[in-house]
Amino acid sequence: KEKYTFDNFIQGDGNVWAKSAALAVSEDLALTYNPLFIYGGPGLGKTHLLNAIGNEILKNIPDARVKYVPAESFINDFLDHLRLGEMEKFKKTYRSLDLLLIDDIQSLSGKKVATQEEFFNTFNALHDKQKQIVLTSDRSPKHLEGLEERLVTRFSWGLTQHITPPEFETRIAILQSKTEHLNYNFQNDTLEYLAGQFDSNVRDLEGAINDITLVARVKKIKDITIDVAAEAIRARKQDVSQILVIPIDKIQNEVGNFYGVSVKEMKGSRRLQNIVLARQVAMYLSRELTDNSLPKIGKEFGGKDHTTVIHAHAKIKSLIDEDDNLRLEIESIKKKIK
Ligand code: ADP
Ligand code: MG
Repeated sequence: KEKYTFDNFIQGDGNVWAKSAALAVSEDLALTYNPLFIYGGPGLGKTHLLNAIGNEILKNIPDARVKYVPAESFINDFLDHLRLGEMEKFKKTYRSLDLLLIDDIQSLSGKKVATQEEFFNTFNALHDKQKQIVLTSDRSPKHLEGLEERLVTRFSWGLTQHITPPEFETRIAILQSKTEHLNYNFQNDTLEYLAGQFDSNVRDLEGAINDITLVARVKKIKDITIDVAAEAIRARKQDVSQILVIPIDKIQNEVGNFYGVSVKEMKGSRRLQNIVLARQVAMYLSRELTDNSLPKIGKEFGGKDHTTVIHAHAKIKSLIDEDDNLRLEIESIKKKIK
């Protein structure tokens, strides 16, 4: 797989601050932000940025001691060394680093006290020596449940940055950058079509390009029109549309359970805060997860106008961008619905 660098990381509104912070760290180890904590949803480039920091440092300082490790591997590594009675070796490896890059720190949540303790000690040892630590997570420090408070506190010592999904224009730029060196001619309207099909995750965009180049190779097609693209990504979209058979009342029930609001209240018109939230979240999910038309969704919510559904959808969508807590709530409701 192509190397993760800053050069091939496309900047957009959703990641510009995380990218700037990552660049700053790679220019000035431990002098600026320590630790740097980057969080955001899946497929938004956290692992990419983390490795870009490591690669940049190694380019400039070839003998720097850099380690990239998913938190899960750190834990296993620790437990292995512990079992073999080789903790000194473990400590030596981790505590002599110049740069420690820990991916997906949320997997430390709920792990045994001894494991968290070891991470805590590693963190402190490096931080005390002014060695750089960069962490990524699928949620903000304050939403890391099952993690010791003193760890969470330390995560916020430096700088915390949030990555949000790319805007349409950024998705186009990402698609351009990922297709320009290919031996296929992706037309502009094809890129726009694709950017419209997958809007919350860069990994899906890459997957779509892979689907298309596979089909194009087999069928010996050079020009990737919308038709070619649509045909190639059908299976991928069907994966998504498996979900489309979800009935709206199932969504209403799950959202209602979650927020303690009855379906009747959701269909009604009372404007109490928690009822409004549940109603809007349920409308949002009905639009995201089902194939129903806006008027149909409105009808299922006690005969509301389709503009009400549009408004609810837009409202929740913009809230999610800013409110990590709400995003996680909706993720967990989605899991229950599927
Ligand atoms: P995460 O770790 O946040 O789940 P990844 O870093 O694994 O996401 O990104 C998923 C894929 O999308 C990777 O192949 C990565 O290179 C690519 N990607 C994500 N964001 C960008 C971006 N802004 N520009 C270019 N590629 C990106
Ligand atoms: Mg990742």
